[in-house]
Amino acid sequence: MADQLIRATAANDGIRAVGVITTRLTEEARQRHRLSYVATAALGRTMSAGLLLASNMKQAEARVNVRIRGDGPLQGILVDAGVDGTVRGYVTNPAVELPPNPKGKLDVGGAVGQGFLYVVRDMGYGYPYSSTVELVSGEIGEDVTHYLMTSEQTPSALALGVFVGAEGVTASGGLLIQVLPKAAQDPALVELLESRLSQLQGFTPLLQAGKTLPDIFTDLLGDMGLKVFPQSQMVQFQCRCSLERVLGALKMLGQDELQDMIEKDDGAEATCDFCGEVYQATSLQLEQLIDELQAQAEA
Ligand code: ZN
Repeated sequence: MADQLIRATAANDGIRAVGVITTRLTEEARQRHRLSYVATAALGRTMSAGLLLASNMKQAEARVNVRIRGDGPLQGILVDAGVDGTVRGYVTNPAVELPPNPKGKLDVGGAVGQGFLYVVRDMGYGYPYSSTVELVSGEIGEDVTHYLMTSEQTPSALALGVFVGAEGVTASGGLLIQVLPKAAQDPALVELLESRLSQLQGFTPLLQAGKTLPDIFTDLLGDMGLKVFPQSQMVQFQCRCSLERVLGALKMLGQDELQDMIEKDDGAEATCDFCGEVYQATSLQLEQLIDELQAQAEA
């Protein structure tokens, strides 16, 4: 399946389900940042989580930032996802590799360690809403579920998975099922969902077995009045950096620093953290920035 996000409801709109396939965009992130296996899994899971969290926001400009800071060797993960289906992200230490965990899987929890998960929801206007929870396991899925239960008080089940091998990322995605407030009082419904999700043996094996998102929704919720929205949304890795933004950041360094760059390096090179794009600013462009700063100082 191509990268996409699909929504569904069940139990008379008491249950909201969203699935996302992020195989290609995770492979793009792996190549852009030269990610190790475990870093690919960590960033891929976090990008899927970001897109799933963004999917229930209504404003076209709305974005979610998911930041993880742990004491493990990966150090940190930052993902920025939009309701428009764009996502970008990076890890602090992309080269970390660890032996598999006792279950024989990539040790994302060991790479992340103990620490905190920060989620910022930005509607595109007003103050962003931000919230912090302690990491449960560093495996990302459990941590984001814990955030949804405690900070957003929505009973939620989340499955995230990335399969990466010698030939790159062959499956990546996630599934979020939430019991909406009007149905959350029904303990039988919550219990039923929990038991079905616990039977779900990870997400990537289903994708690798050739299942589509509607297939997976049907397996889980087919007997509960499932309605799959016919239109799917495209999702992709897309950064918002540009030479103009880089020049704007360089300008903030001030005249002396810019003059120094012209004399010592005949220009400046800046790399975007989010996407790895390298920008070159020429001495002429730096001189223009100095002129602008001087004009502002005289004004
Ligand atoms: Zn960028």
